[in-house]
Amino acid sequence: MKFPQRQFLLAAVCAAFVGSAFAAPDARIAALAAKEKPALLDTLKDLVSIESGSRDLDGLEKISNLIADKFKALGGEVELIDPSAEAYRMEDTPEKMGRVVRATFKGTGKKKILLIAHMDTVYTIGMLNKQPFRIDGDKAYGLGIADDKQGIAVITHIVSMLQAMKFKEYGTLTVLINGDEEISSPGARALITRMGAEHDAVMSFEGAYVKEDKLSLATAGIASVTLHVAGKASHAGSAPELGVNALYELSHQILQMRDLSDPATGLKMNWTISKSGTNRNVIPASATAGATCACSRSATTTASSSR
Ligand SMILES: [Zn+2]
Repeated sequence: MKFPQRQFLLAAVCAAFVGSAFAAPDARIAALAAKEKPALLDTLKDLVSIESGSRDLDGLEKISNLIADKFKALGGEVELIDPSAEAYRMEDTPEKMGRVVRATFKGTGKKKILLIAHMDTVYTIGMLNKQPFRIDGDKAYGLGIADDKQGIAVITHIVSMLQAMKFKEYGTLTVLINGDEEISSPGARALITRMGAEHDAVMSFEGAYVKEDKLSLATAGIASVTLHVAGKASHAGSAPELGVNALYELSHQILQMRDLSDPATGLKMNWTISKSGTNRNVIPASATAGATCACSRSATTTASSSR
């Protein structure tokens, strides 16, 4: 995973606070963003150096403490919120989820601004040893760096730049970082929805997989699909004809349903996991497959920033 170094994005987002995101860059803000870059890279390294999978409660505890400390050091009123109690439970929702970090900064203006990102990642625990954080040329590399540790680092340094500029014209600036985004935010969704409604503007710092530099005004919704096939078990060596092979039927169904994606509407559907059988010498009586489905209309809802 690679992540282009971000002083320009920092400058653009700070410009969004103090003027228009799409205007020419303000030289003062651009210079400040350039000055902030080494500190941002240090934060990025700290964040990437903690494994924080959505189900890794120890890792999430560690990284949420680090994030909380950073916003406390910036003068925020920081809370660590356990979202498990109000979780929307799906079939793969864990019992407990990582804590949400909420940092609140009071300004002198009226508008309420919410900045969101997430601290959890999708890669398998233990991979960090082999792929630690590194900088090569003008890119920084690391597991989960684009999705979404850069988001936390960018928000942290936006707050720090706003302070350096003594900019306080917001009413409230709230930062919300959750630890269950990659499993559909079962815990944090209620809090995010509530807080989204309470704020005048919400900016999400999710990395975008697009070549051009764009500001997305909407993003993909997701769904999961599960396919169960019931067959009939039989001894595979002595009487296979008495069985009904669920694995064959599952394979047939998946091949039939592999092209449901539709670039015209932004629908992406992909089969990603499958499971069948119990023993090698038994015709499998059941088989299961899972697909992930995302529907994104971002192509028609993005605005380019001119810089
Ligand atoms: Zn993400």
